[in-house]
Amino acid sequence: MTYPIVRYGNPVLERPAETVKEFDTPELKKLLEDMFESMYAAKGVGLAAPQIGIGRRIAVIDPTNGQDEAQRLVLINPEIIEKEGRLYEEEGCLSFPEIREKVVRHARVRIRAQDEHGKWFEMDGEDVLSRCFQHEIDHVDGMLFIFRMSALKRDLNLRKIRKMQREGKW
Ligand SMILES: [Zn+2]
Repeated sequence: MTYPIVRYGNPVLERPAETVKEFDTPELKKLLEDMFESMYAAKGVGLAAPQIGIGRRIAVIDPTNGQDEAQRLVLINPEIIEKEGRLYEEEGCLSFPEIREKVVRHARVRIRAQDEHGKWFEMDGEDVLSRCFQHEIDHVDGMLFIFRMSALKRDLNLRKIRKMQREGKW
């Protein structure tokens, strides 16, 4: 099933999500399938559970958006354990349609996370994947990319969002 994507303004996006403690359940398996389906439908490359209104520490990533299933990644209870360098590239977010802005990120991160069976693994990400990891881990921490922008850009975008909200476009 495809979930609608929750937009900025919904408090679920700004609450730290809850740790997942049960693995290998039919319910978790179904949720992960639904998360991939919802991400592909929205044409995204990453999706965190709070973005479909579920406050749990789960993210799915597929930099190919469904072109190559081997690149699918499931991150449960993910965290950054090493970071280095700096990137300043444009990002978007499914919860902020039509908004793209440059944000500062680490150029390389090492993360640790659990897979759908609860097994811990570590993984390195550079460039796009590094940004993806940081963006999705921010989501499960209740942090949004608009708050990683410069104050000027953030205020401009918040004004743009408020205008869209008034016009019923958000
Ligand atoms: Zn996002």
